[in-house]
Amino acid sequence: MSIAQNISSILAALKGTAAKLVAVTKTRSVDELQEVYATGLRIFGENRVQEMQEKQPQLPTDVQWHLIGHLQSNKVKYIAPYITMIHSVDSLDLLQEINKHAKKNNRIISCLLQIFIATEETKFGLSEAEAEAILASEDIKTLENIKIVGLMGMASNTSNATQIRGEFKSLKNLSDNLSNTYKGENIDFKEISMGMSGDYAIAIEEGSTLIRVGSALFSD
Ligand SMILES: *Cc1c(COP(=O)(O)O)cnc(C)c1O
Repeated sequence: MSIAQNISSILAALKGTAAKLVAVTKTRSVDELQEVYATGLRIFGENRVQEMQEKQPQLPTDVQWHLIGHLQSNKVKYIAPYITMIHSVDSLDLLQEINKHAKKNNRIISCLLQIFIATEETKFGLSEAEAEAILASEDIKTLENIKIVGLMGMASNTSNATQIRGEFKSLKNLSDNLSNTYKGENIDFKEISMGMSGDYAIAIEEGSTLIRVGSALFSD
């Protein structure tokens, strides 16, 4: 199927839900991104700063760029002028760095705390206690140029749908708990970023608001 056909079948699955599609365009050419853009999608996700930096000036300015991969503090300055959302925040230090560069650019940058929900060792992310410690800290209140708008998680890379569903349920539960406890000028839980090509259908059923889909957009 074409990119346009793949996208329309994914959008059909989202119909009637609160979820939006983040088109994950990592490793794809600018021509392919333009094809995605032509279908009307505007939220593009990249996992590497350098790659996003190269592509961003070549796409129209109404693209909303989301960083979904691990972010090193020393790279924040490159994306701060234009990034819409950072899904992969995993420390207070990183939030402080994002805040600093957002301020320099006179912007407020939306951030998600990435939570470790998988059983695998290698995935990045915070434990529930670490996320809670960030939200409860005094420091966070001083960060006026970031806004924490929710959580992100990646399920285990497994074909076991029951396990994946359980991991998404735990992220949704955590989100509900934290959003009741932590509210403020710069904390406003409304997004749950979960679901990729292999598991977005389950993620939508479990309350995802942002699915991050890459390979399923480009498969033929
Ligand atoms: C690559 C990637 C995706 C998309 O994965 P697909 O299986 O290609 O849909 C989603 N989230 C993150 C963090 C990724 O790095």
